[in-house]
Amino acid sequence: MLNIPAAPEIPGARHLHSGKVRDLYELVEGPHAGRLLMVASDRISIFDFVLDSTIPDKGEILTRMSLWWFDQLADLVPHHVLSTDVPAAVAGRAVVCERLEMHPVECVARGYLTGSGLLDYRATGEVCGIALPAGLDDGSRLPEPIFTPATKAELGEHDENVSYDAVVATVGAERAAELRELTLAIYGRAEELARERGIILADTKLEMGSRPDGTTVLGDEVLTPDSSRFWPADDWVPGRAQPSYDKQIVRNWALSPESGWDRASGEAPPPLPPEVVERTRSRYLEAYERLTGERF
Ligand code: ATP
Ligand code: MG
Repeated sequence: MLNIPAAPEIPGARHLHSGKVRDLYELVEGPHAGRLLMVASDRISIFDFVLDSTIPDKGEILTRMSLWWFDQLADLVPHHVLSTDVPAAVAGRAVVCERLEMHPVECVARGYLTGSGLLDYRATGEVCGIALPAGLDDGSRLPEPIFTPATKAELGEHDENVSYDAVVATVGAERAAELRELTLAIYGRAEELARERGIILADTKLEMGSRPDGTTVLGDEVLTPDSSRFWPADDWVPGRAQPSYDKQIVRNWALSPESGWDRASGEAPPPLPPEVVERTRSRYLEAYERLTGERF
């Protein structure tokens, strides 16, 4: 099912791993030798398929967005970015970061109910062992934000929601408490900032790791549309799927008769028409500019 293209060769860097959207390298020469190089590609995925089409500038837009957020959060938690002075081949869409020992937990905070949280709630009335009031619907705002951890799935598998106790069993009580507290603090800050700018941050997935001295550091990318759900606040109507800020145009097109794609076929969607690419690129730009107040 997964169709990730081979990662490009970068002089001075050794490829380690590729995900659906990002490529991870180790720098082997220059001032940052031994550090990690995290590259955001222009790839886009929908319904767990990496599309053949790319969205021009997406990697750069999301890299800048992530850097902006790291800044906004700096008083809450240290982050892993050391430098944006990266090999020319990936200028603007990569960061040099410190290598952390990643905690094997996807730290998810939800302020609104949708996606896998909604499915769990409908089946059990709970999400990750947290009981929620009756009568919530797709897109409902939760009484208060909740920590809904998940285990990292292997490539191509879905992450699995787990209870807080499962996190305690994996990383210990002290670390689990720290991860929960930090995740909710970060979500709270980010949700407020986004709301002031007309964007609902429905949920977000963070990854944290340890420095050799044990300090917890925020890693990966943060608060981008690839790791979070952003909804235009003006269009929020609980009781239906909310239009997402970024991929809605692509999803709608793929599911329309126009694309000729049969979701049940197990095949990747066909290449996107230029107009869909352009409108999607505009959405990412709009999200970036609206959030940060900066022109791209
Ligand atoms: P997917 O959409 O499948 O998650 P992706 O494009 O997000 O793919 P990942 O497979 O998640 O890419 O690759 C990024 C990897 O880098 C993750 O495994 C993440 O835990 C790891 N990572 C992020 N920051 C650091 C860090 N500072 N040190 C070590 N590993 C890190
Ligand atoms: Mg990832």
